[in-house]
Amino acid sequence: SSADIGVTGMGVMGRNLARNLARHEHRVAIHNRTASKTEDVMDQFGDEGTFVPSESLEDFVSSLTPPRVAIVMVQAGAATDAVIDDLADLLDEGDIIVDAGNALFTDTRRREAALKERGLHFVGCGVSGGEEGALWGPSIMPGGSADSYKRLGPMLESISAHVDGEPCCTHVGEDGAGHFVKMVHNGIEYADMQVIGEAYDLLRRGLGLTPAEISEIFAEWNKGDLDSYLMEVSTEVLRQVDAETGKPLVDIIVDQAGQKGTGMWTVQTALDLAVPVTGIGEATFARGLSSAVVQRDAAADFEGIADEWNIADRDAFIEDVRQALYASKIIAYSQGFNEIQAAATEYGWDISLADMARIWRDGCIIRARFLGDVTKAYDKNPELPLLLADEYFYNAVKTALPHWRRVVSLAALHGVPAPVFSSSLSYYDGVRADRLPAALIQGQRDYFGAHTYKRVDKEGTFHTLWATEERGEVES
Ligand code: NDP
Repeated sequence: SSADIGVTGMGVMGRNLARNLARHEHRVAIHNRTASKTEDVMDQFGDEGTFVPSESLEDFVSSLTPPRVAIVMVQAGAATDAVIDDLADLLDEGDIIVDAGNALFTDTRRREAALKERGLHFVGCGVSGGEEGALWGPSIMPGGSADSYKRLGPMLESISAHVDGEPCCTHVGEDGAGHFVKMVHNGIEYADMQVIGEAYDLLRRGLGLTPAEISEIFAEWNKGDLDSYLMEVSTEVLRQVDAETGKPLVDIIVDQAGQKGTGMWTVQTALDLAVPVTGIGEATFARGLSSAVVQRDAAADFEGIADEWNIADRDAFIEDVRQALYASKIIAYSQGFNEIQAAATEYGWDISLADMARIWRDGCIIRARFLGDVTKAYDKNPELPLLLADEYFYNAVKTALPHWRRVVSLAALHGVPAPVFSSSLSYYDGVRADRLPAALIQGQRDYFGAHTYKRVDKEGTFHTLWATEERGEVES
């Protein structure tokens, strides 16, 4: 036994994590179901550090120094279960299995509970940053026991991205907390991408700009509050010209957005927790709408634009759209953090929201300057009921408001869908409202279902006898 840590699953992600570990002078045991892939890694990258390759899972486990740490990086679902089962049979009490794939947090909770009974630590670990991140420094979100983090943490921190010397990796919380936070990260990513898409669409249709011109505007925005990896990616995509046709590539790509399910999980879970994540929800539904080919075909000739675009002040409109994007982004993050907060309460996780923002500042797909400000907000007040309640963000949204309202109105008047821009504004107006029509909903519920209501002027629970002539009220 000579390796500090092992990785099984030499796919795209697994091999890059292993290489990253080796580069940081950890001795890494490597294994793959199909042995030729392990050989392949040795041939190509064997000289990058100390690798201990094994053909069998038995040899892989034997090559690990106890207490053993084995990272599983295979397809989520049944494959992960199968590999965990095989590993568990070979490991000893106190050993640590890390699932670094994209597992659903409820699966992670189930696996953790089962392995705990066998004396094993199980760490569901979110890893973001894609292929390149895994190799050069991802953002890492490990859950599991605090005990396991003592052994595992320093190794993961060494290979994660760093900002000002701080690792983008921390112990998130017990059992499924790491995978939960990774899931919400991905949900936020959906919203982040969609708001950029809505800004692009409005600039293009509103001002008749070309993708290349919008790329230049985005590059400019990327120097300010909106500075982010996804903005940079969008700049690159928009200026790409298709070699075959000479047209902007974005006009050649089929406009049906794919998804692997983490956005959907975030929304489903938010529904379970009764947390309104309208930004992530609308972003996920927008992908669904884009791929709803049958419905889009059937609706293709429907009446659309009420007014023709006629923007007099080009620069003012560009600024309106930028502000709408920024405000909608703040709302989406605020909601995502609320989902993490609600889950922490529900599952008894001690999650620091400041630390979550901190470890997302680099390495991951949503990395952005913005997350430094989010970190500051939760550092200042860990109990912040919503990100918007922080002075810095409240002022940003307040400044954005007139711009944002103008953009949402113009989008509606000109028949341009802006689901996240507009639903985020509705959320803002809803959450700040003095009175909501929820009072009428309560009346309706009491009328048809005797669900009762509370009064603004006294304690207690009441029901109106709707079926009687007098419609008197009784306390229930
Ligand atoms: P790949 O498709 O590149 O590799 C899959 C790996 O899983 C292979 O090593 C394969 O082995 C192994 N495998 C599949 N089924 C089994 C099984 N039943 N038993 C043993 N091994 C099995 O996948 P990726 O590296 O892209 O993804 C791995 C995980 O990482 C997934 O959970 C994915 O969701 C996640 N991921 C995360 C990303 C991120 O940004 N964080 C990006 C991409 C993926 P074999 O060679 O024998 O087929």
